Amino acid sequence: MQVTIKKAEQLKTKPDENKLGFGTIFTDHMFNMDYSIEKGWYDPRIEPYAPLVMDPSTMVLHYGQGVFEGLKAYRNPKGGIQLFRPRENFKRLNHSNHKLCIPEIDEDFLLDSLKQLVTVEKDWVPSAPGTSLYIRPTVIATDPFLGVRASHTYRYFVILSPVGAYYAEGFNPVKILVTKDHVRAVRGGVGDTKTMGNYAASLYAGEEAHKAGYTQVLWLDGVELKYIEEVGAMNIFFVIDDELITPALSGSILPGITRDSVLALGRSWGLKVSEKRITIDEVVNAHASGHLKEIFGSGTAAVISPVGELKYGDTVLRVADGQVGPLAHKLFETIQNIQYGLAEGPQGWIETV
Ligand SMILES: *Cc1c(COP(=O)(O)O)cnc(C)c1O
Repeated sequence: MQVTIKKAEQLKTKPDENKLGFGTIFTDHMFNMDYSIEKGWYDPRIEPYAPLVMDPSTMVLHYGQGVFEGLKAYRNPKGGIQLFRPRENFKRLNHSNHKLCIPEIDEDFLLDSLKQLVTVEKDWVPSAPGTSLYIRPTVIATDPFLGVRASHTYRYFVILSPVGAYYAEGFNPVKILVTKDHVRAVRGGVGDTKTMGNYAASLYAGEEAHKAGYTQVLWLDGVELKYIEEVGAMNIFFVIDDELITPALSGSILPGITRDSVLALGRSWGLKVSEKRITIDEVVNAHASGHLKEIFGSGTAAVISPVGELKYGDTVLRVADGQVGPLAHKLFETIQNIQYGLAEGPQGWIETV
């Protein structure tokens, strides 16, 4: 499929690279492509960034049949632009599509068309340390129809946003609240997809955590409220003695690409790495007996987010003295250096634009 390109007549003023936040500024162009039963995916095009005009009955607005992805483009030392494991994002997009009854999209085409879009917007990829161009591929159901069924038409679009260093104020540990009152996902549900409703469903518990002075929620399993699942938009890791542990993918946990990268690096360094069921009580006990060394989250936005405090009921665990643990630090540096082309990663992790 040939991508048509319509350039914007007027370009926006680029923001100050040292003052970028997250997700507020969008580039000059976007990618759009539509689906119908007769034509399949058709009319791929790069065109000026613009509002979507939708009928108020558009299905995604009512029934939430939509999915998204999140990845970044990085400026390397030679001035080139590179992506970190983008094929994994498109594989996961299709997994989300499949579970939401959305027609799948050719993954080679998704990558190729993304590279074309980023090339058009190459001047928007910032180069200040820690900055990047955040990429948000999205699919929405577009039938103007009221009634619960899968839509017959869809829009795939990609928007781009230059973003600042996540740790502008330093690589500081976060405080996390374990909730016993709410669950994020259940066995057999859509917790392993990036579908919109999962995030709407997480807001209430998130607000409660904020009111109590915590930045994020740690979710327990939806059946027994016992096994650890993940954090807001991050997977979770524990270092107990010399073992690096993360909950096994159960179907209700989002299979993070950063999670997979942490596991791969940990194994390549010869660490004892386990994907297994782990209960909140095991973590509390490991802390009480002095065996809990570190807790950290993993995700595209922050790469690694050290946890300095965890609250569960009336129990408050202070982790690694509220400091950044050595493994969290090493993983952060290593993954970030690979993403920015400052170090060589495992085969196939970097895709140049
Ligand atoms: C996106 C996301 C993650 C992290 O995935 P990455 O591919 O590492 O960015 C973890 N949990 C949830 C719920 C997510 O939405």
